[in-house]
Amino acid sequence: MSTDLTPDAVLDRLLSGNRRYVDGAGLHRHQDPARRAELAGEQHPFGMVFGCADSRVPAEVVFDQGLGDLFVIRNAGHIVDPSVLGSIEFGVDVLGIPLTLVLGHTSCGAVGATITAIDTHSTPSGYLRDVVERISPAVFEARRDPSAGYDDVVIENVRQTVTAIREKSTAVNRAITEGRTAIVGALYNLAEGTVTPVHAEGRVTL
Ligand SMILES: [Zn+2]
Repeated sequence: MSTDLTPDAVLDRLLSGNRRYVDGAGLHRHQDPARRAELAGEQHPFGMVFGCADSRVPAEVVFDQGLGDLFVIRNAGHIVDPSVLGSIEFGVDVLGIPLTLVLGHTSCGAVGATITAIDTHSTPSGYLRDVVERISPAVFEARRDPSAGYDDVVIENVRQTVTAIREKSTAVNRAITEGRTAIVGALYNLAEGTVTPVHAEGRVTL
């Protein structure tokens, strides 16, 4: 089942919703009992968001969407692992979603923890170590530019998440190559509420 939208149309719908949210003009559609009942048997979300788990960046809120609109995956620092890739493949190949938006944000705590771990030569214990290890390559890449700051690392982490999804998932790469889907990486500004695209894989216009 496909939403029959192009990746450009999905991106436009998401960014339009974000502008409403920023302006305090949200429509808050699709959040009523009628919509809930309509969707009980099936879902046809038009877009997919893979974002950071940060409590200040809830996908449906910042894009002014409701029930059944978005297929959402979130974890700390939007790190790519097998469960994430399986979820994205479900969204692309089973639900037919034309666009995945990878959403990082300013002052991301997972990125900050990784920078601290690297700078203090300390490794967190438990599974937090896994988060830090997966974000570390973005810190080293961003710091090829000596002037790179915190949010430059955040943007590099978004870019690396976008490329990792395509590189690791044969199914997603095939869908992108065939023009059935695209991935856009974007930065959410915690203070302003704005979403700014920074990177794309596939046929989509930023
Ligand atoms: Zn974060």
